[in-house]
Amino acid sequence: MINSNTTVFESLESNVRGYCRGWPTVFTTAKGSWLHDEEGKDYLDFFAGAGSLNYGHNNDVLKQPLLDYIAGDGITHGLDMSTAAKRDLLTTLRDTLLTPRGLEYKVQFPGPTGANAVEAALKLARKVTGRQTIVSFTNAFHGMTLGALSVTGNATKRAGAGVPLAHTARMPYDGYLGAGATDFQWMEKVLDDSSSGVDRPAAVIVETVQGEGGVNVARAEWLRHLADLCASREILLIVDDVQMGCGRTGPFFSFEAAGIKPDIVTLSKSISGYGLPMALVLFKPELDEWSPGEHNGTFRGNNPAFVTATTALRHYWSDDALAVATQKKGDQIARTLGELAGHFSGVTTRGRGMVHGVVFDDASQAGKVCQIAFERGLLVETSGSTDEVVKLLPPLTITEQELDQGLRILADAVESVCGGMGANA
Ligand SMILES: *Cc1c(COP(=O)(O)O)cnc(C)c1O
Repeated sequence: MINSNTTVFESLESNVRGYCRGWPTVFTTAKGSWLHDEEGKDYLDFFAGAGSLNYGHNNDVLKQPLLDYIAGDGITHGLDMSTAAKRDLLTTLRDTLLTPRGLEYKVQFPGPTGANAVEAALKLARKVTGRQTIVSFTNAFHGMTLGALSVTGNATKRAGAGVPLAHTARMPYDGYLGAGATDFQWMEKVLDDSSSGVDRPAAVIVETVQGEGGVNVARAEWLRHLADLCASREILLIVDDVQMGCGRTGPFFSFEAAGIKPDIVTLSKSISGYGLPMALVLFKPELDEWSPGEHNGTFRGNNPAFVTATTALRHYWSDDALAVATQKKGDQIARTLGELAGHFSGVTTRGRGMVHGVVFDDASQAGKVCQIAFERGLLVETSGSTDEVVKLLPPLTITEQELDQGLRILADAVESVCGGMGANA
């Protein structure tokens, strides 16, 4: 008998639950770009586990090696012991990812979440430089633990800390001050003035596209300027590629297009490829001042995730086919959304690769669009400081037909929310 009752979620599960409120159904199975619920309804997924499912749900390319590994009693829990699965992963990371890009990085396995990778990156930057302050940007999101929250912008999330979030300084992200503002004028001035009140920072942490912050896209020249500014002042540059890495913007690393080489890079979300928990911190070898076990975690060695990560790197990143396809599909998204935005006043769009945002002047419309999209079989979520942005994160492996289908549902939802009044004839 199917238990279609949902009361246990309301009666037993904490109020902290979130996504299930906007998507009030019980999901059972998923494949590729689709989820299915126990009522037999299908949903096209433009959310992809907040960017954790870049290769789709239960991808067969990754699933078979995982099943074989489990069936063969491969190590499941390995702390940071040496295992064959980890050796395969490290070798593949070096040969498929790092060496071809001219990136020389040491690899750290933190606990298997993005926040844990960020905590490790902040700790390392402070240890290496002996400085305390971390510079982060307006509207940044880096995770929900104390250190990660301290460099996060959102007021509600920060308030959850319940203690002061100290030893950070905020600078304006690209575009924050609007047209006419000069890039980094403020930042360079305060960093070079010993009496500005901003202590010389250990590091700057940045997302190349702010995902949770509302799909704010930094220009390549802005990122290059930031990298130069850091290098010339011996400030470490951390790129948090937890959401925008693993091909989301086209190339594997989101910073490749800008031609910069960050000192420290954090990866999580889609790094395992299969939605299994895993995270990595990559950093320049000369920064490797960790002593053994100085940052650790019980679940650093999620070996089944290493198996799918290795397979994903070998299958999708041995050439640039996926990056090229992502660019092509990204252009399709940009074109469609551009036309859509052109039809309505108070609606604009922005994005890069396969992350795009539809921005509503009237923030309440974004939530309504997501709700109507859900009713019509499309999962898509809001982001931004007032949830004013509908954020599109379809799996990179989505077909052009599926993409088209989802974009049409979205366009219909925007039409029903914004049609009539705001429509540009
Ligand atoms: C999701 C995210 C994190 C936090 O990852 P968790 O696994 O939720 O801890 C950190 N940084 C960025 C940019 C993210 O998108």
